[in-house]
Amino acid sequence: MSYESGVLYVVATPIGNLEDITDRARRVLAQVDLIAAEDTRHTRRLLTHLGITSKLRSYHDHNEAQMAERVLASLARGENIALVSDAGTPLISDPGFLLVGAARQRGFRVVPVPGANAAICALSASGLPCDRFLFLGFPPRTSAKRRDWLTQVSMESATLIFYESGNRAVSTVADMVSIFGASRHAVLARELTKRFETFLDGTLDSLVERLRHDPEQQLGELVILVEGSRRSDLVAREAEEERVLAILIEALTLKQAATLAARITGGKRNRLYELALRRRKKGESGGD
Ligand code: SAM
Repeated sequence: MSYESGVLYVVATPIGNLEDITDRARRVLAQVDLIAAEDTRHTRRLLTHLGITSKLRSYHDHNEAQMAERVLASLARGENIALVSDAGTPLISDPGFLLVGAARQRGFRVVPVPGANAAICALSASGLPCDRFLFLGFPPRTSAKRRDWLTQVSMESATLIFYESGNRAVSTVADMVSIFGASRHAVLARELTKRFETFLDGTLDSLVERLRHDPEQQLGELVILVEGSRRSDLVAREAEEERVLAILIEALTLKQAATLAARITGGKRNRLYELALRRRKKGESGGD
């Protein structure tokens, strides 16, 4: 660790197994003037395990703006601060964005101290393609919003990575079956690095059945990884968009039909409108 002052360290901590703390994280946490932690009681347990007595302050979603100002003032006084979350890498579906952005903007050094992250940990052992992936964090909690949200990424060809808690796993994976299709391959990575670490893989419909019949699989924390869309999915999706559009055009204006077809199928409204126009012109010129 350098002996600079006024540095903000963004420190990753384990996602379960405490052996995953790095030597560097341990050293930084022991040497900083203050640790800004999402949940001080949770982090205190980690620090006690590590034999570290550094000062702790809570820094979470509800006091982020106020605490960010305080941390910036401490940095300005030349103090070194570590930011940690309850598990894994801060800012990744965790608080800290405001602070890191403001610290950089005001010219402070921000130093990452890398370590565990549930998404990368799950991906690395999932067997799904890792060359391109899209991390999406937590899906919305209500099914209607979640389905709309999933529809927006249903044609994405990269591996999709989601965070979810075990008790919402069934409803979320069931919505994935509806939006991505029953046969899309997926992996559920649960309780990573912990005693009951489990990887389940199969088609989305087989996974939802497995979850329903084995309530133990609904316990704890979960990363859901879904294979990206293939070209054949795209062809099938476009055919479905055209089928829906053809029905709606019979009863609605082109604009209404395109808008509604986009909502039903998740397709792009502009593309559907163009398609509707072409169909209308073809019809007027005597085509089918
Ligand atoms: N910042 C963390 C990271 O770097 O992975 C993520 C924090 S987010 C609030 C918590 C979510 O991460 C959980 O709901 C779960 O989806 C995932 N997660 C965290 N620890 C996990 C573990 N040990 N096994 C599986 N998923 C985990």
